[in-house]
Amino acid sequence: MLSRIDHIGVAVADLDGAIALYEGALGMALVHRETVPEQGVEAVLIDVGDGHVELLAPLADDTPVGKFLAKKGPGLHHVAYAVEDIEATLAELSEAGVELIDSVPRVGIRDSRVAFLHPRSTGAVLTEIVEPAHGH
Ligand code: ZN
Repeated sequence: MLSRIDHIGVAVADLDGAIALYEGALGMALVHRETVPEQGVEAVLIDVGDGHVELLAPLADDTPVGKFLAKKGPGLHHVAYAVEDIEATLAELSEAGVELIDSVPRVGIRDSRVAFLHPRSTGAVLTEIVEPAHGH
């Protein structure tokens, strides 16, 4: 049901500084930049092979990424796996005993639909599943 790694999420305090690092020294291409109010972030997607790095900068201190930064500082935030049918996958994961943060998908970057799984049941790794919008 999880077909491939779609992206790695990285929490950053300085979005432009992080973009300069990835586009410059790391030589990757910025493909998308978007503010996602539902998730309280400004997000940037950077191409690497078939997957992406997702840079996440909080819109405010009291957002999930803002709280993460305050507690842990910048760094790896989550891993996201692509799925074809997010509702079916959520049902299967729940059935398998995985604790869901989002039992109903929410709007993600580039019109994708996403849901997060609780790190309590995924080995302390915040895990996201993504159903990409058709055409991406
Ligand atoms: Zn993500």
